[in-house]
Amino acid sequence: MEKVHETILEIDLNALTHNFQYLKSRTNTQTKILAVVKAFAYGSDASEIAKHLETLNVDYFAVAYTNEGVALRDAGIVTPILVLHPQSVNFKTLIDRCLEPSLYSAFVLNEFIKVAEEKKQTNYPVHIKFNTGLNRLGFDSTEIPKISSILKNTKSIHVKSIFSHLAASEDFNEKVFTENQIKLFKTISQSFAKTMGYQPMLHLCNTSGILNYPDAHFDMVRSGIGLYGFGNSDIEDEHFTPIATLKSIISQIHRIKKGDSVGYNRAFIATKQTKTATIPIGHADGIGRQYGNGKGFVTINNIQAPIIGNVCMDMIMVDITNIACQEGDEVIIFGTNPTANVFAETAKSISYEIITSISQRVKRVFLK
Ligand SMILES: *Cc1c(COP(=O)(O)O)cnc(C)c1O
Repeated sequence: MEKVHETILEIDLNALTHNFQYLKSRTNTQTKILAVVKAFAYGSDASEIAKHLETLNVDYFAVAYTNEGVALRDAGIVTPILVLHPQSVNFKTLIDRCLEPSLYSAFVLNEFIKVAEEKKQTNYPVHIKFNTGLNRLGFDSTEIPKISSILKNTKSIHVKSIFSHLAASEDFNEKVFTENQIKLFKTISQSFAKTMGYQPMLHLCNTSGILNYPDAHFDMVRSGIGLYGFGNSDIEDEHFTPIATLKSIISQIHRIKKGDSVGYNRAFIATKQTKTATIPIGHADGIGRQYGNGKGFVTINNIQAPIIGNVCMDMIMVDITNIACQEGDEVIIFGTNPTANVFAETAKSISYEIITSISQRVKRVFLK
């Protein structure tokens, strides 16, 4: 690996291949794989990730918002894209760019039909989302007759899939709750098929659902965090490789004496002779203030250096008193060791939050 000269997020596409193949090995060959590439593919780079996954024959993509789907189409992605939370102001654009909406209430269903009819569509693919316990988005199971009567009045759309989302698939203490969600989803899909006279594709599992509920994979599974290298448990983490490594360098080293302070508001006061390093990454890059004042750490020459004082917008200062290092040396914030999950835990956060927080200012570098 080349020496770094600035803060970068290094993205290992071979690790992505590995994670994708591992997830495939945990599903049946007929089960389709949908890759969730919302939020810049969990803070990496949606276009590059999607292009790579297309070479691996991924079946579907999902994004949260319409503009994320538009960006993928602009990048040349041709695989079907499910938009999980489209907003009705974007429905025209969504159809123009061949994106497929998740419709989760009678209001959005009717709004979408209006636009689809205006645009003279027939059988435009849509996905109906049911709420089975997360209480976030989704039709209630009792609304099937209502959905059916709306659908029977239009030729403009066709239900390609029905789906739901698990609330606690990574948590074994919530096994009963999750099994009830699975049961309810089965009931919904049977009742939907009976009412409509055909069976759309069914999907329920996110990454932890794939790993922990192999009997609930249905026709397709939706993985996000697993593709990026996290299994949401110590045991499952072993099978995955984090794709992203956040690296930086030492900009300057200071030797300060007892009583000297470091950073804004003098939040760190040295209790002894201290050697500090200034690193060019701050809260504007995604390292929040909660990592400051001894909570978070960076790794220099395999030794942990705690972040001292307040995190600045563009910089952090770390204690390197016990580390042999020089200006220009490489600094690891997270990657394969420590993982983003371990780094996040220092500030009571989780992998999902830290990896999606790394701002667009940080250059993305791809390893192929
Ligand atoms: C984000 C999201 C996923 C992906 O979940 P992971 O835990 O990252 O695998 C799947 N389905 C829906 C509806 C989502 O919003």
